[in-house]
Order: sequence, then structure tokens, then C-alpha cells
Amino acid sequence: MIAARLAAAVLAMAALAAAEPVWAGRQYQALPAAAGASVAASAPARLARWQGDRAAAFSFIFDDGLADHTAIVLPLLEAHRLRGTFALVTGRIPATAAEAAAQADKARQAEKDPAKAAAIRPRPSWEDWRAAAGRGHELANHSVSHPGLAKMTPEQVAAEIDGGAAGLLAAAGVRALTFVGPGNQYGPGGLERVRATHLCWRIGGGLGYGRPQAGEDPPATVARWTARLESLAAKGGWQLSMVHAIIDGYDPTGEEAFRLHVAQAAALGDRLWIAPAGEVARYDLAVRHARLAAEPAGERALRLRLEAGLDDALLLVPLTVVVETGIAPAAASARRGGAELPCRIAGTRLLIDATPAAEAMEVAWR
Ligand SMILES: [Zn+2]
Repeated sequence: MIAARLAAAVLAMAALAAAEPVWAGRQYQALPAAAGASVAASAPARLARWQGDRAAAFSFIFDDGLADHTAIVLPLLEAHRLRGTFALVTGRIPATAAEAAAQADKARQAEKDPAKAAAIRPRPSWEDWRAAAGRGHELANHSVSHPGLAKMTPEQVAAEIDGGAAGLLAAAGVRALTFVGPGNQYGPGGLERVRATHLCWRIGGGLGYGRPQAGEDPPATVARWTARLESLAAKGGWQLSMVHAIIDGYDPTGEEAFRLHVAQAAALGDRLWIAPAGEVARYDLAVRHARLAAEPAGERALRLRLEAGLDDALLLVPLTVVVETGIAPAAASARRGGAELPCRIAGTRLLIDATPAAEAMEVAWR
């Protein structure tokens, strides 16, 4: 009920689309545990640290809303069924594709070098970014104008952070979950402001990509990039990346190299959860506070109750419940209130994706 009220409040705030930041001053409030909710020591059920009970999480973040991102990165990620986070400078984005084309025409006419003029491409517009968001990619706040925040006053820093969030909401209907500091700077009071208004932020640039190191051949670069993800999958945890241009613009990775790396990253998908940063942040926060109670409901059946631990409808996302069956089941099912829940057999484990709710779920296997 609290969650429903909060959802209504969040929707009402979203409808305002005003200059007020959506999450300003938001404080998490822990929910009391339901009577009797506790995990029995012998219960073979647990919550997966990362979705799908994978060992680690990784988020591809692409900075600055470049033409390469819509032309190359989006189709590449989608070919591998991956989704990314795109950090947008909200004050620099043309409203429509037609406006972007007109801006590119003007820039071509102003350019004296014919080769450079021919290479000028229209910037992605809000039309492009809304479509990307509709396909599950994350649009992140990368400030309004990409200034050097370190040299600004706290008021100017707050205006860049809050204005970026308001811009995403107004132009794309998206609430900013992730803030990426321009030039990886946060400025005076910036980190505190971001922490109060966003769920996720990137510090220090994360995993960098960029052009191959001097003297290094491209296959060696790709092997180095992919080795970092293999190491992440082996050690556990969550890392964010920083990618700018692929072929044209700041610090390009090179197209063939990046294509090969994304294919190799996708192949790690059973151990590495590759998802937008805001989505991982929501899961991370929700799963660390959620409560799971389990009781036997037959020889090969469990009754499970998965409850949210934080009072915020934003964090009501599917969490992976893992049941260790001790056998290799031939079939399994999970139901709640007459509805079937996604339930996958992985060796001796069952992986059930369920959103926290008051109602118990019944899991059975054979
Ligand atoms: Zn940037």
C-alpha cells in the first residue's frame, strides 16, 4: 500500500516535468518485516546477488550522445541482445532528426576542408534517444552543458545536475537514475547532490576503452579489454565503463575492435550480467534490503515470501530467487496468485524472477 501511494506520488511528480529534480531530498525508509518473516537456516532458498545468479555485473556507459552511438553502438548491442547506458548532455541535443540534419548542413557549409565537411554527421536527436529508451536502453544525466564542474559554485553545479535530470524528463519522459560527471568531475557539493537525487554515479571513469595503446596491435587491445571482464566475472562485483567515439570523435576505440569485444563480452553472459547502470543499481539496492522467507510445502516444493525492504516503488523490480534443489530437476514451476513466474532450471538450481510482494509464491520441482 505504501508502495502504491509512493508510485502515485512519483507519477504525479513525473507529470509536473518542472525544473524541480525528481528525487531531490529523497530518503529511503526501511519497511518493517512482516510477522514471522525470516529465512530458516535449513531453507534451500536464497536471493541472487546479481540477476540470474550471475557472478558479477557490468554496465556499458557511452558518454556524450555521439553519432557513433546511434549509428554503430545501438545496432551492435541489440544484435547481441544487450542494452547500454547513454550519458547525454541534455542542452546539446537537437529536438528532431530534421533539426539535426539542418545543423549538420550548416556545419558542412562552414567547413572549408571538403573531406572534413563530408565526414560531418547529424547529431542524434531526442527522437533517436526516445526510441532507444523505448527499446530498453538507459538515458543517463551527463549535465546540461558539460562544463568543468570543479570551477563552478555549488549553486551552478546543482543547476547542471538538476537541469540535466529535468531535461531528460521533459524531452524523453525519462527519470534520471544515473549521473555521469562531465570530464568525471563532480564539483563543489556535486557528489552530495547526485547521491540525493540519483541511484548511480560513475567515479573516476570506470573501465576505460579508447584507442589502442601505443605499440599495441588491435587484437591485443581487444584481448586486454575482454580479460578485464573475465576477471570481473571471476572476482565478482560490478563495474561501469566509459566509452566515447567508436570511429569519429573523442578517443575512438576503432570499429572492428569494439565489435569483436562486444561479441566476446556477450559470450560471458551466463557469468556476467550486462545491463544498464540504472537497472543494476535498482537491483543492487533492492536485493540488499529485500527479505526472503522459505518454508517446506511438500517433498519437492517450497512456499516462499519475498518482501521489499525499502519503501520506494522505484525499487520494486524482479529479483532472482535461487532454490538449491539438490537434484537435477526435469521440470519446475513457480506460481503466485494463480500467475506463473519465470522459472528456469540451471543444473541443480531453480532461478525464479519475482518482484517483491506481500503474497507468497509456491515453487515445485520434480
Ligand atoms: Zn562527457
